[in-house]
Amino acid sequence: MNDKILPTTVVGSYPKPRWLNHLIREHSDSSLSDEVMESAYSDSIKAVVKDHELAGVDILWDGEMRREEMTSYFAEHINGFSIYGEVRVWGNNYYRKPSIVDELSYRDELTVSEYRNLRGLTEHDIKVPITGPYTIVDWSFNEHYRTKEDAVYALAEVINQELKALVAAGASFIQIDDPAIPTHVDELEIARNSVEIATKGVKAYTGLHICYGDYSKLYPQVLDFSVDQLDFELANKSFQDISIFREHDFTKDIGFGCVDVHTRRIESVDEIKGNIKKAFEIVEPKRVYVDPDCGLKLLSSQVSFQKLSNMCAAARELRGEL
Ligand SMILES: [Zn+2]
Repeated sequence: MNDKILPTTVVGSYPKPRWLNHLIREHSDSSLSDEVMESAYSDSIKAVVKDHELAGVDILWDGEMRREEMTSYFAEHINGFSIYGEVRVWGNNYYRKPSIVDELSYRDELTVSEYRNLRGLTEHDIKVPITGPYTIVDWSFNEHYRTKEDAVYALAEVINQELKALVAAGASFIQIDDPAIPTHVDELEIARNSVEIATKGVKAYTGLHICYGDYSKLYPQVLDFSVDQLDFELANKSFQDISIFREHDFTKDIGFGCVDVHTRRIESVDEIKGNIKKAFEIVEPKRVYVDPDCGLKLLSSQVSFQKLSNMCAAARELRGEL
């Protein structure tokens, strides 16, 4: 998709500035106007873009500044969902769990305005991440459809409309985020079908981001998913999964997670170069996209920026050596 060899990119999220979180709280208490909130989002996205450009990222996203998290943000804009109160996920992290209470249908844009806004801010290539229908349903209650499978496929049709709207707006690279897939490997067929429905007729380069799982339970079956690229978290598990991917011909491009998002330790340029080279054990360099393991939102912006900078420097140096 990108002409450059070893293009660098992000998975999606970036740390929200502390001042933005403060304003979001004020806005939810109705003590801040929509207008002020809107300009705060706009300013934070400009800062993210600047950070990414300074770090040297080739294919950008806006850091998901407007997304509260990866399920309710979408559910709120799709007919048929209702949002319940907060549910505890882990530690002291909560999210507002959606419930499917009626027939799911497309209401309005989910990501198109984010894309248009970003397009106006940078000349760089853009990747649009969107949560996959399988994960959204898995992380929601289902009070309407007879089976989970029915709900997933109905939502996949909605996501398909959104992806087509994105392409019509000019998007050329779309990533489906499906972290729930490895948690139910017995439902891999449902997930596969959902991606097929979601991407049907979508004329863009597509990727599938899967993190936090045992890839040996998904591979090689995941090669049958109808996307151009598979994006994996690899640094966090010290690249042990490379051996799994070597067992079968890796027939897609790979998004190669080469920086750990679960540690504040900043990997050196040399260390990341060594990490990226491990990808060449699976596919040839021209099929490798360089990115962090996952979204960076749980780190500080200083650490995130340093990790991205070193990652991009590593890719640059490697390009010169290939
Ligand atoms: Zn992830």
